[in-house]
Amino acid sequence: MFIGTFWFIFGVVIGSFLNVLVIRLGTGESVVSGGSRCLSCKRRLHWPELIPLVSFFIFRGHCGHCGSRISWQYPAVEFATGLVFLFIWLRIQQNFQFSIFNFQTIISFLFVAAMASLLIAISIYDIRHQIIPNQLAYPFIVLALFSVVWRLKNWSAFGGGKLAGENLAVGIGLFAFFALLWFVSRGRWMGFGDAKLALGIGWWLGWPLGITAFLFSFWTGAVVGVFLLIFSVPRRLKGKYSLASRLPFGPFLAAGALAAFFVGERAVDWYFRLFF
Ligand SMILES: [Zn+2]
Repeated sequence: MFIGTFWFIFGVVIGSFLNVLVIRLGTGESVVSGGSRCLSCKRRLHWPELIPLVSFFIFRGHCGHCGSRISWQYPAVEFATGLVFLFIWLRIQQNFQFSIFNFQTIISFLFVAAMASLLIAISIYDIRHQIIPNQLAYPFIVLALFSVVWRLKNWSAFGGGKLAGENLAVGIGLFAFFALLWFVSRGRWMGFGDAKLALGIGWWLGWPLGITAFLFSFWTGAVVGVFLLIFSVPRRLKGKYSLASRLPFGPFLAAGALAAFFVGERAVDWYFRLFF
């Protein structure tokens, strides 16, 4: 439990870095240097304003200097990243019950934590700007490819070649599907960034979890889309532009991938017992 708490706090700190990363991406500002500033009065933040999560509650969501409101996005992302890191640790512990402190456990954790961090950053960026930036999509794809190579090398005795082949095929299949949607709709249903993200998810999770991630994201996307459509009807009648027509799909893909990583195996078991 002590280690779990440690990873939670580590996740909160990474979450606060992801907030800065998403805001500075594309502005030309350095992500690692320059210190955090209040976006309103531009004053540099000092301790204790720099403590992630806690500071938001100390200052009750306002800048300590100019008093302007601070977006709830910051503590929400910090808390969510902390929770995701904790769950990743618990999930990986299940796989390596007898050797919590060996090299492979730590590498597995850091790898999945890095993938989850990129997914979280991609989601926030997609919600804010309706696009998935290459600076986040490419590292995600490269890390996913690295995991395929790792599988090929380390699990060669247990059919690693077949597994790696499956992962590559699932990634390319998902990419082709999203690229087709993008092409047919001329980018209105899906962006090309979604296709890149799906490629990385397929390479990372393989068969059957990659497909499970895809199904999770489509179901949740459909449910949320229908809800937004219903709630936007009164506004549509007044001729106002609705959110549902510009629902970014990146966050659903990201959530689907994480859900598949956490509970995908159980969902697949359940499905096959139900129908076969
Ligand atoms: Zn301020």
